[in-house]
Amino acid sequence: WMSVFDEALIAAKSLAGFAASSFNPTVRLGVTGLSRAGKTVFITALVQALVEGGRLPVFRAQAEGRIAGSSLSPQPDDTVPRFDYEVHLADLAGPARRWPDSTRQISELRLVIDFQSNRRFAAGMSRLTLDIVDYPGEWLLDLPLLNMSYAEWSAQTIAASREGSRLAIAGPWHEMLARLDPAAPENEALAREAAALFTAYLKAGRDERFALSTLPPGRFLLPGDLEGSPALTFAPLDLSKAGDIRSGSLHAMMERRFEAYKHKIVRPFFTHHFARLDRQIVLVDALSALNAGPQAVHDLETALTSVLSAFRVGANSWWSAIFRPRIQKILFAATKADHLHHTSHDRLEAILRKMADGAIGRAAFSGASVDVVALASIRATREASVKQGRENLPCIIGTPMAGERSGDEVFDGEAEIAVFPGELPEDPNAVFSGSGFNGLENLREGGVDYRFIRFRPPRLEDGQIFPHIRLDRALEFLIGDKLA
Ligand code: GDP
Repeated sequence: WMSVFDEALIAAKSLAGFAASSFNPTVRLGVTGLSRAGKTVFITALVQALVEGGRLPVFRAQAEGRIAGSSLSPQPDDTVPRFDYEVHLADLAGPARRWPDSTRQISELRLVIDFQSNRRFAAGMSRLTLDIVDYPGEWLLDLPLLNMSYAEWSAQTIAASREGSRLAIAGPWHEMLARLDPAAPENEALAREAAALFTAYLKAGRDERFALSTLPPGRFLLPGDLEGSPALTFAPLDLSKAGDIRSGSLHAMMERRFEAYKHKIVRPFFTHHFARLDRQIVLVDALSALNAGPQAVHDLETALTSVLSAFRVGANSWWSAIFRPRIQKILFAATKADHLHHTSHDRLEAILRKMADGAIGRAAFSGASVDVVALASIRATREASVKQGRENLPCIIGTPMAGERSGDEVFDGEAEIAVFPGELPEDPNAVFSGSGFNGLENLREGGVDYRFIRFRPPRLEDGQIFPHIRLDRALEFLIGDKLA
């Protein structure tokens, strides 16, 4: 049995445990964004900046010299892949200077930060455990599916595919759709063909020219390790004339797989991973949408709103019964700001704020604090002004990646060039209406189109971290309060 002494010991231990957890907090930081938004580069740069103790003036704990050290540590979740930090850093910083492989699925990395608190009664060192969880933003688009039947989803998806520029890319899939009889016997070959054409349609929308971004199912775009599994082998059927579902029919098969997708894939992601996040950064490649024009901007806005609806915490929302998101802080970040001159950074922020407006209002309502930033996790360019006639044009200088082209010129990946990047409009509304602003294209200089030039990562100076834009501001917002 327990002696009084044992009991006292247990009480003391649990008190110590309580004290330890309140002084040594853990934060789970979600990093998300649609494909190519810049998640992998962001996490790699952030971890490098912390582990190497780089210069981050706005990130106060580091600027004030209160961080004794940050290091990687084994992650708590044994079944989640580890974020491949060392490989990504070697890609960027190695002689090849290449961008790392992008996010394909969920991964995780644990960082421990030992710091000196500046609170009045804090004695000794404290430790912040930061769990970074990287996952595709496409997966968040699936939340509404949980509340939808197969018939509802089919009808919505087909209706959307008949509008605007989607109609132009949906041809091959529509043609097959017209041939599919829901009442016909189930048929694996047909199901696979329909799923393949439907997936090709979804992917075509993500093409640079359209830059459409809204449609679920998210795993059709980024399947993670589920590629080819039956739960991903379904597609909408035109049920407008369909009767009751007969067992053994194509309709029954598609519906069964849709339900499996919801229950075996979507729901576990939300309950096991999403619901446990404390803070979240949503990376947005707003520049690509701006380049593609007003429809892409609208589409991105819709995608942001649907991504963000996942963060909406309300006692009455139907999914609060399934999981209870507890996100306290959300940062929207427009990435790749190094493609613009600094005079446009605040404008990019204003545009993103405008795009995310609806979503931000709702998140604020739920008690999470929200901010917006334009950043470059890794700054691949520097600024200069180039004289043209009497004018001094604000330019950026960088090394285009090998094979990038502009007009007839193909770059070799070694020579630097100066680019006039175009300015964003002062009034953020211009990018939505298309009035007076149509992407960055009508801002090109001398007819030479430098818009889509991708630059190589910069050369890393010995003992330094990668140059960045406002990465420190992002860090201060996301974890600064935990290091106070
Ligand atoms: P993910 O799909 O969200 O993981 O996107 P990545 O992090 O792989 O980024 C996609 C691409 O965007 C990279 O290969 C780079 O070409 C570009 N990129 C991302 N971040 C930056 C940045 O800070 N500056 C520049 N110039 N390019 C970036």
